Amino acid sequence: MLLSITTDSPEETKRIGENIGRLMRGGEVVVLEGELGAGKTCFVHGIAKGLDVKDIYISSPTFVYLNEYNGRIPLYHCDLYRIKRSEDIEDIGILDLMGCNGVLIIEWGDKANPYLPEDRLYITITNAGGDRRRFDCDARGRIYIEILKMLKRKKYHAD
Ligand code: ADP
Ligand code: MG
Repeated sequence: MLLSITTDSPEETKRIGENIGRLMRGGEVVVLEGELGAGKTCFVHGIAKGLDVKDIYISSPTFVYLNEYNGRIPLYHCDLYRIKRSEDIEDIGILDLMGCNGVLIIEWGDKANPYLPEDRLYITITNAGGDRRRFDCDARGRIYIEILKMLKRKKYHAD
């Protein structure tokens, strides 16, 4: 299932992330693609909020590869920007996190492609000029399709 969403500010992006975070039950894998400055980390901040992560100082983990946050379920935030070879993925420890009880979000996740589970939420963020960003969401697998369906419903019935 495909769903495109447009946002016009970082706050709006966080809100979309928060809504998705609220719908998560644990075990989800989310892949984020998009150039530097697209809004991947901003979106993760929103997801963290939706998972009730308290210390939302979350910095970009670009230099640490992997950060863990305690929410109502654990959030693992990984950034593969500096990864050169896909084999290096094995050293970061994210393979054990796929299919665990937490939520795993991977910026530049395409680099981990050979290791990714078939079921996942795949989001490509495009800078559409100014503060506008387009989120092309591709849900592969039942739980992700459910998440997008609920998100879509929410969008048309704003609270
Ligand atoms: P990435 O992780 O993709 O490199 P960041 O989330 O770190 O990107 O940075 C996104 C930048 O774009 C921030 O400076 C943010 O303020 C800005 N921005 C402007 N408009 C938006 C928007 N609609 N959504 C997200 N970020 C936006
Ligand atoms: Mg980032």
